[in-house]
Amino acid sequence: MSASTPLPETVASEVDFPANDRASRSHDQVADLTSAPSVAIRLPVPETVGQRLMWGYLITFVALHLTLLLAFVPWLFSWTGVLLVPLGLYLFDWVGIGLCYHRTLTHTGLVMPKWLEHTFAILGVCTLMDSPARWVAIHRKHHQHADEQPDPHSPLVSFLWGHFGWLIRRDEESNAAGFYHQYAPDVLRDPFYLKLERNVLWVWIYVAHAVMFFLVGLAVGWVAGGPMEGLRFGLSLFVWGVVVRTLLTWHVTWAVNSVAHMWGYRNYPTRDNSRNSWLVALFTGGEGWHNNHHAYPVSAAHGHRWWEFDPTYWTICFLSWIGLVTQVKTQRDG
Ligand SMILES: [Zn+2]
Ligand SMILES: [Zn+2]
Repeated sequence: MSASTPLPETVASEVDFPANDRASRSHDQVADLTSAPSVAIRLPVPETVGQRLMWGYLITFVALHLTLLLAFVPWLFSWTGVLLVPLGLYLFDWVGIGLCYHRTLTHTGLVMPKWLEHTFAILGVCTLMDSPARWVAIHRKHHQHADEQPDPHSPLVSFLWGHFGWLIRRDEESNAAGFYHQYAPDVLRDPFYLKLERNVLWVWIYVAHAVMFFLVGLAVGWVAGGPMEGLRFGLSLFVWGVVVRTLLTWHVTWAVNSVAHMWGYRNYPTRDNSRNSWLVALFTGGEGWHNNHHAYPVSAAHGHRWWEFDPTYWTICFLSWIGLVTQVKTQRDG
C-alpha cells in the first residue's frame, strides 16, 4: 500500500500536537459527550477528502481479501500455518504496531535502543499498514482532532469510513508535502525511517518477508516429503502466516478506530467519542482500552484498572525489567 506523499527536504525540530487530549479540552465540552449516546453526532467526510481514490491501497485491499479464499482450500491447510497466525499477531501487530509504531514512535511513551526500535519498526512494516512516518503522522492528526473535523478516520462519519473507507479515498492534506513536516518531523529526522520512505522501500520489505515465509516452508517441506510437499507447505505458510495474519492485523487494528470510537464504556470524560472495548483489547493486546488512551496518550499503559488486561504493556514491563526499555511513562506522567 504505497504512499505517494512527497517528503520534505528538511524536517522541523518540534512537533506541534497536544500531549494530552484530556488536558487540551474544556470540561464543559466534555460533559455533554460523556452522557451522550455513542453515535449521537454525525460528521461529514473531511473537507480535504476528494473523489480521487488511493488506487494502490484499494487494489492491495481487494487482492489480499481475494487471496484469503485460498485459506479454504484443504490442501493448503497446516497446523504450523495456523499456529503462525497468533504468533504473527503478537509479533507483527502487538509489538510492531502497538508497542513500536503507536506507544513508542507516536506517543514517546517509552525509550529503547535504536537497534531494537528499528527492529520492532520492521515488524510493524510487515503488517503492510503504512510506513512508520505516515502511520505516526495520521495517528497524531487523529489525536489532535479526534471525532471532529478533520479527524482522518472518525466512525461518526460512518462505521465503514472509520474502519477502512478513509484509506481508499484520497485525503489531499495527508498527501501534501507539508504533512510529514507538520506531524512526524521527529520520526523522519532518523535516517532509517527516511530511508523506508524512499522508493517505498517499506513495501518491498513486506514483499520480501512474504516470499521468505514461502521459501522457508518450501525448503522444510521439500526436505521432509519431496518437491510437491515443499510446494504445499510453502504455500500453506504463505496463506496462513502472511495473508490470514495480515488481514487479521488490519481488521483488529482498524477496529480501534471504528469499534473503539463507537461501543464500550468510558473511564474518562474526554471530548471525543473514544471507548474502552474489551473485545478490541483482546485482539490488539490492550489497544482497545482506547478511552484510557485518549485521556492519557503518552502513557505506555493503556489498561488503567486492574482487570483491563494489557499484554503489550506487560511486554514493555518485561523489556524494562531486562534493561532494554527505559523512561516508561504511565498515566501518572500525564
Ligand atoms: Zn482514537
Ligand atoms: Zn494514540
